[in-house]
Amino acid sequence: MSKINQVFDYVIDRLLPVGRVVRELPYVMIFKTTHWCWYNCAHCCESAGKDRPAEFIPADVIKYYTDAAKSDPKFTKEIVLTGGEIMASYKFNMENYVPELANYIAGRGIRMDIKTNGAWIRNNDLRTKIIPDLISVNERNSMQCRLPYQLSLSLDKYHPNALENTYKIICEMARQNKNKPMILLHISGFMGQDWLYKELLAKLLATRNTRIDYAYVAAKSGNAIPLHVINRCVALRPSFEALLFAGGRAKNLPEAFPSKNPTFEIINNDADVLMAFDTMGNVTLGENSGRKITVPWRDKNGKPRQLPEIKRDLVRRARYEQLRQKVINLKNIFVK
Ligand code: SF4
Repeated sequence: MSKINQVFDYVIDRLLPVGRVVRELPYVMIFKTTHWCWYNCAHCCESAGKDRPAEFIPADVIKYYTDAAKSDPKFTKEIVLTGGEIMASYKFNMENYVPELANYIAGRGIRMDIKTNGAWIRNNDLRTKIIPDLISVNERNSMQCRLPYQLSLSLDKYHPNALENTYKIICEMARQNKNKPMILLHISGFMGQDWLYKELLAKLLATRNTRIDYAYVAAKSGNAIPLHVINRCVALRPSFEALLFAGGRAKNLPEAFPSKNPTFEIINNDADVLMAFDTMGNVTLGENSGRKITVPWRDKNGKPRQLPEIKRDLVRRARYEQLRQKVINLKNIFVK
């Protein structure tokens, strides 16, 4: 970077510090692989559903950004694969989409979180493909790293059949993963809804030939995270701290938290920046925030833009949003 650019950045950073936050904090990459979903939840911050196009971010694009980020020291080496519903790829004849991506990412030593609503467990054809694929990805990559990925299942009062779907997935995994490397399931829900997890454990305890042990894994912070291990082959990691933000369809729910402030208002020095790629060709900072800080990942020919270019644009865009917020605040003071 030239001296002039350094001085420019220094001055702008003093005036609009969000630029430095976006440029210097470590980042996680999130791929919202599709907006299609079996469900139409009232709380969906992505407004996903069956009426959305069955389009997916091409696997090659995700691989391209995985490789581009891998050599970037600011990348936390964490990728989230989510949707809509990523497992709908099996329904739309892209049966290799999830295993190909999961093996590619985990094979590069990158921690991965695959988020699913579990609706597919109710369909025999899908269930018989997805469970063995997930077990195979875990088995193949466990050779180089223990618990190479986590499968996140939503357990809350909004997702239809959440308790039943989660229970069935755990039972099926425990049956098919016997004597194989342990698989990690993250059971996530909203604050105040952990009673659902207690019901899940009670249901598992009441299931024949099911044993539950206690274990711990170390978090990045060094703290121990408690796990419940089912039949010594499926580890459950509960977390019920999430807040429901009023983005997407959730804005119609009275209990959702207002989210009109841009994401940078809640970023602090301990946080990671979330960089979310979607099917519409956008990269957005943060998730589920109110006003979005967004730039395109596609160029005018539809090809993926280079990652450093995207990061530079995100810095500019975040500065613009902070400036806009400052002007609004000033205007409010003068109006008063
Ligand atoms: S919240 Fe999840 S399950 Fe519900 S519509 Fe959105 S993506 Fe689908």
